[in-house]
Amino acid sequence: LAAEAAFMARTGASQRLRAQGADVLSGGVASSWQATIPGTVWVDHGAGSRLVDADGTEYVDLHGGFGVGLVGHAHPAIVDAVSARVRRGTHFGQPVQDAISVARALAERFGLPLWRFNNSGTESTMDAVHLLRVATGRPKIIKVEGTYHGHHDSVQVSVYPSPEQAGTPQRPRSVPAAGAAVPQDLVRLTVVVPYGDLGAVERALHEHRGEIAGMIIEPIMMNIGLIAPPDGYLRGLSDLLHAHGAWLAFDEVKTGLAVAPGGATQLFGVTPDLVCLAKALGGGLPCGAIGGVPELMNLISDGIYEQVGTFNGNPLTMAAARAVLEDVLDAAAYKHFATLRGIMVAGVQRIQRRYQLPGQVRGYGAKGAVIFTDRLDNYRDFVAYPDQWGHAHWLYQLNNQVFLPPWGKCEQWTVSVQHTEQDVLGFLSNLERLAADLRRADAGVN
Ligand code: PLP
Repeated sequence: LAAEAAFMARTGASQRLRAQGADVLSGGVASSWQATIPGTVWVDHGAGSRLVDADGTEYVDLHGGFGVGLVGHAHPAIVDAVSARVRRGTHFGQPVQDAISVARALAERFGLPLWRFNNSGTESTMDAVHLLRVATGRPKIIKVEGTYHGHHDSVQVSVYPSPEQAGTPQRPRSVPAAGAAVPQDLVRLTVVVPYGDLGAVERALHEHRGEIAGMIIEPIMMNIGLIAPPDGYLRGLSDLLHAHGAWLAFDEVKTGLAVAPGGATQLFGVTPDLVCLAKALGGGLPCGAIGGVPELMNLISDGIYEQVGTFNGNPLTMAAARAVLEDVLDAAAYKHFATLRGIMVAGVQRIQRRYQLPGQVRGYGAKGAVIFTDRLDNYRDFVAYPDQWGHAHWLYQLNNQVFLPPWGKCEQWTVSVQHTEQDVLGFLSNLERLAADLRRADAGVN
């Protein structure tokens, strides 16, 4: 409560903006996940690894705009590419040459030959689900319990279901996501399985024989902390689905570009039939992409699936994406991510040991998470542990000028090419002070 009061006192200008905005912005924010508790931080500007809020407070930004920020803020290569493009016109509804460069770079990174663009992660996973259905003529898809793939109906199922509604851990029930009002007729078309369990996928394919078009999965599960696939899981999925005439789509909206140059696809050496990208691809502009094998992507060129969107391949986003891929996220960038991640992971482990904090730390590429539980292998492990630590940690870092994504135990940190060792040491020293404070408070109470 004291931390919440301190936050509100420090963010007076933000709170005034939210109150002003509430007249015209529903809830006083531009998107529901911007409404955080106890209040929302309104941003004035960003530069490098930092952002500055409406009160003029500067933060090290590890939120990265929900994982977008691999290039950091106002990176000169992005500013130059976008500025040059703005002067030459920003929208024609026709393709521009940069689209070829971006598609070529993605084909090389992900080992998938054909690409299309859209404007968000939601559109990418929606295109993927549509393609799976068009390719097979089958209505159902398989999705993992607890994953978030965006806000279209097919994937707004069993996102954060309450365990009371969700059936047993081994045989979860499909539950409409809260706040999405997905009609039951659509919910039953999304079959839900626990993460990491090949047997459950095999069972689903048998129980819904001839009805499953494919499976969409985040290869490293995020949005509930960070969970890596068990050995052989991704390869096993691909083999199982193909054996049943179904296809595999990786949602790499978060992992793509962040965990390796060619995402989890490259990291684990399993190439799916489709890859969905967004977030980091546009370098801060709204850009999504879908790449895939000819058998699926040729359904688009053959006119069997109409992959459309007014802003698809928009010149401004293509210019930014080209700069991201060709100028910023080079081999040195991934080396830098590994260095910073190494410091963060080792530092968190040292603090957890020293202060006997519950939990562990996990990291891949530019991303990582402090996880305040010893066991986290799937969604049921995630719901089983309380969120006080996650929320307290987020708020403490915020009150001490380090901006992490909200919703404590759900989200991951993101570092950019512009973050420094100094930046991540600030994050660690905040965590250490919080741990020391809490241990002192424990000692006082006992
Ligand atoms: N897929 C994953 C794994 C995500 O994390 C998100 C967003 O957080 C999405 C899809 C949806 O992306 P967007 O918010 O750009 O629609």
